[in-house]
Amino acid sequence: QNLERNLFSQKMVAVIGYGNQGHAHALNLRDSGARVIVGARPGGEAWKWAARDGFDPGPIMDVAARADCVAVLLPDEVQERVCADEIFPFLKPGSALVFAHGFSVAFGVVKPPKDNDVLLVAPKGQGHFVRKSYEKGVGVACLVGVENDASGKAWQKALSYAQMLGCLRVGAIKSSFRDEAVTDLFGEQVVLCGGVPGIVKAAFETLVERGYPPEVAYIECLHELKIITDLMSDSGVSYMRERISRTAAWGGFLTEDEVVTDDLKSKMKSILDKIESGEFAAHLQKEASAGGSRLNDYIEEEKEHPIERAGESARKILNPREEESK
Ligand code: NDP
Ligand code: MG
Repeated sequence: QNLERNLFSQKMVAVIGYGNQGHAHALNLRDSGARVIVGARPGGEAWKWAARDGFDPGPIMDVAARADCVAVLLPDEVQERVCADEIFPFLKPGSALVFAHGFSVAFGVVKPPKDNDVLLVAPKGQGHFVRKSYEKGVGVACLVGVENDASGKAWQKALSYAQMLGCLRVGAIKSSFRDEAVTDLFGEQVVLCGGVPGIVKAAFETLVERGYPPEVAYIECLHELKIITDLMSDSGVSYMRERISRTAAWGGFLTEDEVVTDDLKSKMKSILDKIESGEFAAHLQKEASAGGSRLNDYIEEEKEHPIERAGESARKILNPREEESK
């Protein structure tokens, strides 16, 4: 997957937003030989952070106007307004727009101009990991996609960007804004951020309601999750089954069939329907324009769940040193 010529080598690349993804993209691309400029809001945290890292940040519209490639690395919920007011009207004709997540383009939240290439380079890891693994010479894999090929070179540009980010050291998987957005949302809702935390809490409650000590319930239902997910993500589900006890493997097969019923499968399909139809995206935009306070309420409310208290005291026993250094 080596490119003969990197289209952004020595070119001006604007990184808009200097947060989780933004800082990693800016630093990796600079180290890979692009002329990186950073766009941020004056006086903000991002502005100060970028300056500390040796950039000379500028207002978003100025920076966007100067670059051959503009990476939009702002939180998804602010992209609608910032793109419309401060980025799209100022782009050089023929410059490329890069997004790190398919969401806002796939669901029409932002509407990029027709004269610009619209590229997806979605690294499969959070920003600090994208930076650290670049420094180690490894890199993280990414999904790439093209929504608009105005220059006829959009794919090559997407791969050029991915290469500078360090992703081609591992690999780029051909995808699209829509596929990346839908599968990403589905995975986080059904498995990672919805299904798993929900099952963990329900299992914890079940044990505690029967009188088992909360710290023990925490260890069995949450703490050990990491061991299993590490095995699965490193080498697959059957690898995990072979490495746990035969008791655990047998019990697991029995309950899997009981928990993951046809009914649960049909719920997953209806969640997927809402994502594909754009119903979830519309809902999210509505929440964001109302100030996002319901999400903050949920986050605060969850802090009161007994599993949090149990976790605090269990972690003191499990990793005393880490807890002390906090
Ligand atoms: P962050 O929440 O880390 O924020 C990014 C930056 O946006 C901050 O520097 C912040 O600057 C700036 N910002 C926020 N609001 C505004 C505004 N109204 N005007 C101007 N600047 C603003 O974002 P992420 O890095 O998490 O996400 C960026 C993109 O990357 C998203 O599309 C996301 O889906 C995608 N992505 C994220 C991953 C992750 O692990 N986080 C993984 C893969 C993709 P300030 O300090 O001034 O507030
Ligand atoms: Mg996600």
